[in-house]
Amino acid sequence: MRNFTETLYDAFAQEFRVDEMLHEVKTEHQHLLIFKNAAFGRIMALDGIVQTTQKDEFIYHEMMSHVPIFAHGNVRKVLIVGGGDGGMLREVCRHETVQRITQVEIDQAVIDMCREYLPGHSDGAYDDPRATIVIDDGIHFVQKTDETFDVIISDSTDPLGPGEALFTESFYAACRRCLTPGGVLVTQNGVPFHQMDEIRQTGLHLKALFQDWHFFMAAVPSYIGGAMSFAWATDNPGLRHVDPAVLRERYRKSGLTTRYYNPEIHFSAFALPQYVLKAIGKEDNEYL
Ligand code: SAM
Repeated sequence: MRNFTETLYDAFAQEFRVDEMLHEVKTEHQHLLIFKNAAFGRIMALDGIVQTTQKDEFIYHEMMSHVPIFAHGNVRKVLIVGGGDGGMLREVCRHETVQRITQVEIDQAVIDMCREYLPGHSDGAYDDPRATIVIDDGIHFVQKTDETFDVIISDSTDPLGPGEALFTESFYAACRRCLTPGGVLVTQNGVPFHQMDEIRQTGLHLKALFQDWHFFMAAVPSYIGGAMSFAWATDNPGLRHVDPAVLRERYRKSGLTTRYYNPEIHFSAFALPQYVLKAIGKEDNEYL
């Protein structure tokens, strides 16, 4: 294969030169491809859609882990749904105050292949004694578990194939059931400029279930089309408005060094462009 052309969108596509093919397999759930590219390093794609790249994964994984954990301020138990490449697990494990992390991934092959070909993503996190890895469909897990979590991170593929179930109201309702009081759910929610229906639909689902729901954004170069959105849902409205000075103190005390996240980025990430606010029905008041 000389070039990999992503198949997420009909009318346009991004293309990567394949400098070296590392692995390709049809797993029980999806088509998995890992290859090398001079611009992005090693890239993993599932069912023709870029999932993660060595060069820019830090932006996505730092924002989806540190924003809810620093906002909450006392996270002990975290659930990661999906996240087979291990980058989210790595970032959550960096918080020494976190005592237990459960990761529910549908496809063991993604974990295995990423440990082999993208070892820097998990960076040993799969061997962290606090981590429990469950191979299951995320929606089944949240519907049947009796465990509760302070933060739930849905690090899923797009709402296609196995990922589709993770964008449904029943999934969000089951996550709400598994949150501790004051806990927060964050989910990967696509690039609004191209996936407007996805953010509109998620907004409607979350509005029906949670006291406070919103989105925060960050631009991840390999998720083409502008800044991507992360859904935010909690019954603790104060979490979204933590004083920046408090965030700065939590960040300082954590001792974490980051490459993208900082308290100012955290706070400003919740400021959404007008066209996105309009799409989610908040153009007049973001506190709706
Ligand atoms: N950063 C990527 C993005 O924003 O699209 C997500 C990367 S991560 C590799 C996505 C993971 O979700 C994959 O490992 C995939 O196997 C997993 N996944 C998809 N559907 C799932 C489901 N229903 N339950 C659990 N894991 C699922």
